[in-house]
Amino acid sequence: MSKVVIVGAGVAGLGLAKQLSSSLVEISGLEKDLRGGGRFEIGHQRVYTAEARDFMTDLLPDTAWSLVEEPPFALRKGEFGPLGDMEFSAPESFYLATPFWQPAATYHSIVEKLWSQVGESFRLRTQVASVDLANKSLLLVSGEKVAYDKLLWTSTLASLGKATGETPKGIAKKKPPVIETGGITLDLDTSASLFAQANTVVIPFRYKDHKLKGLGMQAPWSGTAGAHSYRFLVFLEDALLEDREELAKVVRAFKRELTRTFPDLEKAESRERIVFHPSLSGEIPVSVRSLEIYPDVVCVGSDLYTEEVSPDKQEFALRNLDLTLRNCLDFLDITAPQWQLKTQQPVLASTAPLEALQPE
Ligand SMILES: Cc1cc2nc3c(=O)[nH]c(=O)nc-3n(C[C@H](O)[C@H](O)[C@H](O)COP(=O)(O)OP(=O)(O)OC[C@H]3O[C@@H](n4cnc5c(N)ncnc54)[C@H](O)[C@@H]3O)c2cc1C
Repeated sequence: MSKVVIVGAGVAGLGLAKQLSSSLVEISGLEKDLRGGGRFEIGHQRVYTAEARDFMTDLLPDTAWSLVEEPPFALRKGEFGPLGDMEFSAPESFYLATPFWQPAATYHSIVEKLWSQVGESFRLRTQVASVDLANKSLLLVSGEKVAYDKLLWTSTLASLGKATGETPKGIAKKKPPVIETGGITLDLDTSASLFAQANTVVIPFRYKDHKLKGLGMQAPWSGTAGAHSYRFLVFLEDALLEDREELAKVVRAFKRELTRTFPDLEKAESRERIVFHPSLSGEIPVSVRSLEIYPDVVCVGSDLYTEEVSPDKQEFALRNLDLTLRNCLDFLDITAPQWQLKTQQPVLASTAPLEALQPE
């Protein structure tokens, strides 16, 4: 039986482990972290394509997804209204203009469900230091060696290149990275409802001379057990991002604005989490001829795509989660069947008549 080693227990690794669990391969997963989920575990992601939604629905059919496509609102002086002539930066415009899908479940619960189904195939706190392509073997940070017949790398193409020490072939020229301004996300759980919109609500506020905006969204699982969850995203200029003290002051200014707008917030807030994201998109993904980057090594990271992805989808929507899930689908459609075929093929597979294969 072929041994497929999956590196990474993020949504891609867990999803692929689940999809391959009924196939004729032996799956063994390696995850450097203390638990599974990867970046999905800490995020509050939206997916932008129906493909990504379908992939997640295939994995967990009991999780409903809703499409949020109504135009966003601006909240000024406690009144909801159209955005009017407000100006937005590129990442803000993308968040406001692009319809998205979101699950009616917390991402944490999605990861837990996936983990309960395939987690036992993964070893945690197990980091791959390098890949020996010639001998089909992984060297772990612990010094242990792990052999593979097929390797599925769910981290980035860049990290795969580092681990093999070989520049992957067949990769189109890398475009210069477009670094978009990062920002902060502020998650609030409250006992009172602040607003009921699933679409984004823009809350303008000022910090010193900066005119800033909080883009807020109610989580679709709000209301369960009397809790309401909100996520606010504040994109910031580089100067503000470089200084942690300034960042903290921006958060305080935004929270003052929120409390002014929603006076109940102060006593209704039950949990707060602030995450700082220095940049949001980072590198532009590179185009590759095939996800099989080296013989028997497939990469489904979110920094690469195959040329089958139509050019109009390459910008924005096909990034991050959408891109990595799209790569998983590509892999399952194109590469995985070949892998399984290899394990199923009779040793003397041939189109020659049977008699020709009989021993003399
Ligand atoms: C706060 C936040 C909000 C986000 N919001 C959105 C959003 O709205 N929409 C969107 O599309 N995307 C969003 N993203 C990005 C999205 O979460 C990721 O694109 C997605 O989770 C990637 O999943 P993955 O399985 O491909 O990779 P990862 O989650 O990165 O999983 C890779 C796994 O591999 C492990 N690993 C890496 N190297 C090694 C090694 N050498 N050995 C062993 N294990 C290794 C890592 O620990 C990790 O668990 C957000 C991310 C964050 C953090």
